[in-house]
Amino acid sequence: KDAVEISLKDIDKLAASSFPLCMRHMLDKLRENHHLKHGGRVQFGLFLKGAGLKLEDALAFWRAEFSQKVGSERFDKEYAYNVRYNYGKEGKRTDYTPYSCQKIISATPGVGDHHGCPYRHFGSSSSAPEEAAAAAFFAASASAFFLAVSTAASASAFFLASSAMAQRRRGRSLANLIPDVMGTVGEENLRAALNKMGVNGRALEDIMDKAKNRHYQLACTMTFEATHGVSCDTGINHPNQYFSESQKVLRA
Ligand code: SF4
Repeated sequence: KDAVEISLKDIDKLAASSFPLCMRHMLDKLRENHHLKHGGRVQFGLFLKGAGLKLEDALAFWRAEFSQKVGSERFDKEYAYNVRYNYGKEGKRTDYTPYSCQKIISATPGVGDHHGCPYRHFGSSSSAPEEAAAAAFFAASASAFFLAVSTAASASAFFLASSAMAQRRRGRSLANLIPDVMGTVGEENLRAALNKMGVNGRALEDIMDKAKNRHYQLACTMTFEATHGVSCDTGINHPNQYFSESQKVLRA
């Protein structure tokens, strides 16, 4: 059991000092979009529970964000159940435990998802640049279509636009099958996220190398070491372990 309990008002401060990158990323996206898809709500919700956030605080936390997007009435109707479910208060009443790194790393986040492990998934999941690329693609497809109509070459141009769309869809599902290959976009996203945590220079390059060579937990361990100034001999194997080790160092 973790030694610390966290309360609603401390979440942002604790995230900045002690959350691993996967959980910081989801908190950022939740604050930005006032929404997280199911995979994110489960991964992040169980982490917060494991870190010591009580059910009432968890409900207040998710309601404060989601109500800005969907309204508090819809939150209470559609989403509160899932928060209580995570705490074993609904359905099978199982007291679910937070996901380990291994489980998170083997997830296959799709477009619009923000769960998973950034050291593995930033290249294939839908972080902001990917969404921008998708939007640009659809704008291009739409203009190809209207151009086609106006030049009476509609059939072939529309065919081109739709086959490009089909290719992109195929590309996406292929990316889900081989998500280990971190693309340039993923690399830039990871680099920027690590910079934001205050990691740079040699340490940053070493971490990038480890992530590219698929040593995700080692990359995370090295991030912990670089941001806490201590060595972490056991290595990181669970986001809640990252959190409690961090709190131990900071409270010592
Ligand atoms: Fe999160 Fe584990 Fe990935 Fe670190 S290695 S970012 S704790 S899933």
